[in-house]
Amino acid sequence: MLANLVTANALTNVDDVRIGVSNERTRLVLDLSSRVDFDVFLLGNPRRIVVDLPNLQWPDNLQPKPQGVIGGLRFGQFTADKSRLVLDLKQPATVSKNFILGKTSGLPVRLVIDLVAATPAQFNEQVTADRQRNRQKTASAPVPVAKPTLQTPKPKKRKAKPVIVIDPGHGGVDPGALGRKAREKNVTLSFARQFAKQLRNTGKYEVYLTRNLDIYIPLRQRVAIARKHNADLFVSIHADAIERSSVRGMSIYTLSETASDKEAAALARKENRSDIIAGIDFDDQPKEVADILIDLAQRETKNLSVQFANLVVDHARGSTKLLDRTHRFAGFRVLKAPDVPSVLIELGFLTNRSDEKQLLSSAWHKKLAGRLVKSVDSYFSKERLVGIVQ
Ligand SMILES: [Zn+2]
Repeated sequence: MLANLVTANALTNVDDVRIGVSNERTRLVLDLSSRVDFDVFLLGNPRRIVVDLPNLQWPDNLQPKPQGVIGGLRFGQFTADKSRLVLDLKQPATVSKNFILGKTSGLPVRLVIDLVAATPAQFNEQVTADRQRNRQKTASAPVPVAKPTLQTPKPKKRKAKPVIVIDPGHGGVDPGALGRKAREKNVTLSFARQFAKQLRNTGKYEVYLTRNLDIYIPLRQRVAIARKHNADLFVSIHADAIERSSVRGMSIYTLSETASDKEAAALARKENRSDIIAGIDFDDQPKEVADILIDLAQRETKNLSVQFANLVVDHARGSTKLLDRTHRFAGFRVLKAPDVPSVLIELGFLTNRSDEKQLLSSAWHKKLAGRLVKSVDSYFSKERLVGIVQ
């Protein structure tokens, strides 16, 4: 722990992130407390520019206004020792210059990246060149993305206690939904910690978190973590945002390729974008050849997922407002562990004043986590398992 603190103190600070437009050029500037190494590359589908940096201390709640060719941006921790800044491009563009300026009369160290508009062909050419360069670089140091686990599910070992994996949504470079004050990635982490604590206090369960830091974890890796721990239950925690600020309430999702309604389908699309937001290059990933295998195994676990979702709806009633048709179905990538019953809980809407207040309240976290523990208890209760266990 102490070692971590020492490293944290030694981190370079990002004091500001600024964007300016002059003539044809869009300039991005990071104000830094010291010089750092960095790497810039382009990604297609959708068009993005990614800046990889060492682990940095990023400012909280800084939202620079996108301008010029930049349509959106986010930054944060990417892996344990890497930070990432991702720029969404409004139009094809390339990096015309990138450099570090040293500290001068009152000005901090600055990382400067200049972008200029390009043709789609010029953009694609650069994407290909960057990918080749990255491949050569990562040949010795593999990217921290879990390979899909393709083997058929093994029979579960008899374990002393049921294993529960809690998955705080988003993190690091991917902030998730934004409220007036709250960011989804922080809400999900603090709720997950509270839920884990209460589950552990019962002494009945072995509990793991997919992340316990403000760090980005690819969706596929979250599923792999659940499988690695041989989990009996996987609970992904999220919070939503929507234009209509009057909409509020909790909802819970289980996996289905056919979404129960348009809203559920749109939500799954939004949550599944997490890897794009974090700047993952899909063209460089192995194809999901195991889809059919996964579908077969999923049928067995789907029923259990639905049972748990129903228990959560029953137990949460009265402790928080529930969205109409609280239990819905959609194709969330994070629910695709073929042999682990999995649910995704949207705790509420960050865009609703009352919901946001709850999502930031530790008392509310405690209360709702308590109801979830009750749901877990009934799910694993002896009565329910009669007929399932031989
Ligand atoms: Zn989310």
